[in-house]
Amino acid sequence: MPMSENFKKRLFPILQDIKAHFGTPFHIYDEAGIIETGHALKEAFSARAGFMEYYAVKALPNPAIMAIMKNLGFGFDCSSIAELMLSRGLGVTGEDIIFTSNNTTPADFAAAFSDGGCIINLDDISLIPKLPRIPERICFRYNPGARRTGNDIIGNPVEAKYGVSHDQIIEAYRRMKQLGATRFGLHTMLASNERNHIYMVETAQMLLDLARWISAELGIRFEFINIGGGLGIPYRPEDIPLDLAAMARGINHLFDAYAEKHGYAPKLCMESGRYMTGPHGVLVTEAINYKDIYRKYIGVDACMSALMRPGIYGAYHHIDVLGKYPQKFPMERVDVVGSLCENNDKFAVDRFLPKIDMGDILVIHDTGAHGHAMGFNYNGKLRPQELLLTKNGSVERIRREETLADYFATLTFEKDVMTF
Ligand SMILES: *Cc1c(COP(=O)(O)O)cnc(C)c1O
Repeated sequence: MPMSENFKKRLFPILQDIKAHFGTPFHIYDEAGIIETGHALKEAFSARAGFMEYYAVKALPNPAIMAIMKNLGFGFDCSSIAELMLSRGLGVTGEDIIFTSNNTTPADFAAAFSDGGCIINLDDISLIPKLPRIPERICFRYNPGARRTGNDIIGNPVEAKYGVSHDQIIEAYRRMKQLGATRFGLHTMLASNERNHIYMVETAQMLLDLARWISAELGIRFEFINIGGGLGIPYRPEDIPLDLAAMARGINHLFDAYAEKHGYAPKLCMESGRYMTGPHGVLVTEAINYKDIYRKYIGVDACMSALMRPGIYGAYHHIDVLGKYPQKFPMERVDVVGSLCENNDKFAVDRFLPKIDMGDILVIHDTGAHGHAMGFNYNGKLRPQELLLTKNGSVERIRREETLADYFATLTFEKDVMTF
C-alpha cells in the first residue's frame, strides 16, 4: 500500500480543517507512522549488537523530523555542510554522524572535522591527501563496478560517479593504515528504492566478503559495515512491500556466520532515507483549474517546486481525491499538473481518477522522502510549507512556505565590479 490506512484514518477527517487553517499546498508528515517504522527497523535487527541506522538527512532535512529520528536512537547520514549543521543543531555529533560526501571540497572537510567531528566516509583514494588531518577512524565507500542493480535511479555502478573501485580498495585502506588510522569501516550505497530484500542481503554478503579479504591482506579489523540506504517502498497500490523480516533474517545469518568463523563480526549500519519517512508524508493540494483540450488537465495549486520525482524520474505517486472513492464515483482520465512552464510539471499522467471538481483536495502519496527536499525555484516557483501530524493528534507547522522575499534575497548584495 502507498500511504497507510492508519495515516489516512487520522488525517482525512481533519484535512478540510487543516486546509482552512494553514491553507494549501503543504506536505504533512505522520509522526506516529515514522516512529512505528523506526521501531520495526530496530526490532528487525535487535539481534545485532550496535546496530545503527543513520537517517539519510537529504530525504527530509527538517529538524522536527530529525528530532524524531534522534529520539529513536538513530544517527544521521550527511553529505553536505548544511546537513552537518542540521544534525549538530540537534546536539548530534561524533560517531552518530557519518559524512558521505562525493566530489568533496576543502570546506566540506573542514566542516566534517569541526564541532565534534563525525565518521568520515571517503569517496575516493585521491581524497586521502586532502584530509585536513588523519582521523583515527576511516571508512571508504566501495563501488563494485559491474553488477546488477535493481533500477536506474543510481544506475549501473560502472557508470556511477560514487565510491572507490575494486582495484583501488585495498590500496585505500593500506594508505590510511600507514598514515595512522586504527579504526575502519566499509560502506557501499548501490540500490535505490529496491523492494527485493535479496538485493540488500547480497549487498551485505558482498561487503562481508570484501571485509574478509581486506582484513586478511592488511591485518585490520572492520568495526562496522554500512550497507547504505536504498530500501524501497511501494509507490503503486499493487507493489509488493519490502520484506523487512526476511531481509533481517538473511543479513543476521551472514553476520552470525562471519562471527563464528572469525571470532567477531563488524557492527551493522545502514542509512535509509526513503524507507523511514517516504510513506509517512503526503502533499496536499487543491484543484484550481480544469482544462479540456486534446487531453483533460487538472491544474492544482502545487507544482514541481514541491515534488520533483514524477517530473524527473517519471515516478508514480498515488493520488486520492478527498471524499471521492474510486469505486463509488464517476471516473475520468486526466493529467494532474502544476503551473511551471515545463511540460514535465505533472504529478500524474493519464491517470484514472474520480471526477474532480474545482476546490477538491488532492492527496499525493509518499512524499515523506525526496519530496519537499528536492524542490527547486525554477520559474520563480516557491516551495510549500511542511506540517506535522503529531502522535497526539495535533497539527503543527514545521516549516513555513517560501515567500517572494526569500526568492529575491540573493538579489540584495554588495556591488562588485572588476574593470580591465
Ligand atoms: C541518498 C542516499 C541515501 C538514502 O537513500 P534512500 O534511497 O532514501 O534510502 C543513503 N546514503 C547515501 C550515501 C545517499 O546518497
